[in-house]
Amino acid sequence: MANPGGGTVCNGKLHNHKKQSNGLQSRNCTKNGIVKEAQDFVPLYQDFENFYTRNLYMRIRDNWNRPICSAPGALFDVMERVSDDYNWTFRFTGRVIKDVINMGSYNFLGLAAKYDESMRTIKDVLEVYGTGVASTRHEMGTLDKHKELEDLVAKFLNVEAAMVFGMGFATNSMNIPALVGKGCLILSDELNHTSLVLGARLSGATIRIFKHNNTQSLEKLLRDAVIYGQPRTRRAWKKILILVEGVYSMEGSIVHLPQIIALKKKYKAYLYIDEAHSIGAVGPTGRGVTEFFGLDPHEVDVLMGTFTKSFGAAGGYIAGRKDLVDYLRVHSHSAVYASSMSPPIAEQIIRSLKHLMGMDGTTQGLQRVRQLAKNTRYFRQRLQEMGFIIYGNENSPVVPLLLYMPGKVAAFARHMLEKKIGVVVVGFPATPLAEARARFCVSAAHTREMLDTVLEALDEMGDLLQLKYSRHKKSARPELYDETSFELED
Ligand code: PMP
Repeated sequence: MANPGGGTVCNGKLHNHKKQSNGLQSRNCTKNGIVKEAQDFVPLYQDFENFYTRNLYMRIRDNWNRPICSAPGALFDVMERVSDDYNWTFRFTGRVIKDVINMGSYNFLGLAAKYDESMRTIKDVLEVYGTGVASTRHEMGTLDKHKELEDLVAKFLNVEAAMVFGMGFATNSMNIPALVGKGCLILSDELNHTSLVLGARLSGATIRIFKHNNTQSLEKLLRDAVIYGQPRTRRAWKKILILVEGVYSMEGSIVHLPQIIALKKKYKAYLYIDEAHSIGAVGPTGRGVTEFFGLDPHEVDVLMGTFTKSFGAAGGYIAGRKDLVDYLRVHSHSAVYASSMSPPIAEQIIRSLKHLMGMDGTTQGLQRVRQLAKNTRYFRQRLQEMGFIIYGNENSPVVPLLLYMPGKVAAFARHMLEKKIGVVVVGFPATPLAEARARFCVSAAHTREMLDTVLEALDEMGDLLQLKYSRHKKSARPELYDETSFELED
């Protein structure tokens, strides 16, 4: 099928036939872009998603993967690029769009920043330990820095023990298979992150999906699992593991934890919760969803989280009872086969945790958590007053604003960038086709002035593109407005 640039797709490769007048086209490809030798084959790529990619995504893909050339702080620099062939390729102009307000990074506490004096300990660690460990935790890759970090994580979460891993994604995908296997049942929220999905699949356990954050749907699966057991044999499941997230990154919803804990106790199932977007970001002192609901963290069997969002670093952790963590130290593929966390990264997390716990002798860390909560409520409230439809819990710093139509996505993101506001837009296949959205991430590093600039632009954009779909506008709550913004010290 022709694309706007005049090329055709043959097995995923773009051939520009206008330029190829040497017979290559007629030798290899049919009119429909299918390689001749493969004519009788079931098409490998010609499905709906392929159609969608060529006819919709390609036309608006300038709004994704925009390269930035600075740290993803509250402001960032975007490299200007243009396309001369309707988005098939891009060319950098060499110009940089400076100081764009960053509404897209998961920099919840503003800890992803350029080097400053407060990061001196990272420099010191770099000088002493170097950058890499070049060994696994199991062999020679366990450093005192890892031990210090794990003790701090356990202390922060108020649990017996914790283990850290070099990559958040692998923390899920490599540890779930260590906990469950054949004959076990995983009950997974339909909107769980791919790392959870992959871990579940790799485990070999049977997977059943419940509706997003829907405890009735979960209870039905639990009841059926207990009554009917495994298919055919009707033996009882060896164990049942419920997989959920703390805050969902596309919906902004917060898990219904108290109800899920009640269910897991009733049906004697285990609970695994991924706090990638909630650790540091929700709860009065940033200790995640257990703190948010005032629950004992030991009520959750496996607490998992990542350091890529609130901590401005990389990696993940599993925390909970000591016997669970000891078991994973021996059985996790991540501990046995993957290199351990780089020491400067470990130090950045240690520094951030000490900051949050006030162990650096200041209350700045706690203030960040409070500022994030204030910014979140202010931003969400103002959007609802304007008549936008937004998803999620009012305390969730992930704020999806519904645009619905794919056509509006492009206009929205392009206009916002013209106003020097960087936004993340999300569409199919990450969302249903007609539920495209902009997904804002509020940060403690956003000043009230920045948020007001964004809100003003959104108000204008909402009228221009007719995005104010809500019939239930919220009335104004000035008490949320006069709070003086706490400016973070650099
Ligand atoms: N879990 C969730 C819920 C996530 O959103 C992500 C990534 N954003 C991960 C795990 C993977 O973490 P990382 O990017 O730190 O590898």
